Amino acid sequence: TITKQQIVQWLETSADVFKDEQDFLTELDREIGDADHGLNMNRGFQKVKEKLPSVADKDIGTILKTTGMTLLSSIGGASGPLYGTFFIRNAASVMAKEELSLAELTKMLQDGMDGIVQRGKAEVGDKTMIDTWNGIMESLKQNQDASVYDALSIAVAEAESAMKNTIPMQARKGRASYLGERSIGHQDPGATSAYLLFTELRNASA
Ligand code: ADP
Ligand code: MG
Ligand code: MG
Repeated sequence: TITKQQIVQWLETSADVFKDEQDFLTELDREIGDADHGLNMNRGFQKVKEKLPSVADKDIGTILKTTGMTLLSSIGGASGPLYGTFFIRNAASVMAKEELSLAELTKMLQDGMDGIVQRGKAEVGDKTMIDTWNGIMESLKQNQDASVYDALSIAVAEAESAMKNTIPMQARKGRASYLGERSIGHQDPGATSAYLLFTELRNASA
């Protein structure tokens, strides 16, 4: 299982990672976007970190919903609504829960990914964060008999290849799609932030 304390830890360390990786994410977005993805993620997650103490004694669903609302209201651009939706949808099936089984965690993440797809209409191969989430979900579904930590660790490796597989893709959604073929040869910023976020979930589950 993964506990509420581990979920809180996930969000806290994610805020630290987005601070450390702000420049890296912004550089990726400079190549095929408007050079603000690192700024957006860092701003949003610092707000989440500020909010966490006020909800840390609540259930997992409330914590995730608060995270989603905070991201929605503090990040502009494409990624605010998308990550906001991700956490708000995450929350739906875990309301009132204090810990989650691997099956519950998997459903939670699938709901979140479905929310991003509904909102952004991206398909696998469009060179977005959906490529990373899709790699993660395929992997998790194949490893439901493993421990949470082992299943998430295998999925982290899949997330990393999915992220790198965005390099040769041509973007078909978001700002990068305006570049057409010139978007080829660059790693997608959102696919990268999704990888970083998921890696922190794995780390918290240890
Ligand atoms: P903006 O492009 O508005 O400046 P960000 O730079 O914060 O927003 O985020 C860009 C990332 O958002 C992209 O790298 C991509 O992964 C993701 N993205 C953009 N549009 C979509 C979409 N329709 N569906 C899924 N992800 C998307
Ligand atoms: Mg941008
Ligand atoms: Mg922008």
